[in-house]
Amino acid sequence: MSNCLFCDIIAGKIPSKKVYEDDRVYVFEDIKPGAPTHVLIIPKQHIVDLKHAQAEDAEIIGYCQLVAAKIGRERGIEDGYRTVYNVGPRAGQTVFHLHLHLLGGRDLTWPPG
Ligand code: AMP
Ligand code: ZN
Repeated sequence: MSNCLFCDIIAGKIPSKKVYEDDRVYVFEDIKPGAPTHVLIIPKQHIVDLKHAQAEDAEIIGYCQLVAAKIGRERGIEDGYRTVYNVGPRAGQTVFHLHLHLLGGRDLTWPPG
């Protein structure tokens, strides 16, 4: 996908701090972390966001959650972390390539702001 920041990060055209990669997902540190652990799990295929996802995207959406759980385990933050898909501008979505936030390593308030 042209003109997509996260497609460019996956392609290595824009630098990122890689955390994990396999054939389906790329995981990297958020540039503006909101918690001691704040990583983004993104599908390698360009999906705009959750509201544009189709039935055939169900597997990759669930897989991103499992990758988040794996990283949560590896980072030792299983006493409390959060996985979030921001959807739409009112929820703070700024990048229109599906990405799952994994935040942890501090107390997280509920509901989020
Ligand atoms: P959202 O606001 O849910 O669309 O999330 C986009 C996230 O991408 C934000 O938390 C940003 O800090 C993060 N972000 C934007 N540009 C970069 C970048 N070049 N490298 C890493 N993270 C980024
Ligand atoms: Zn993209």
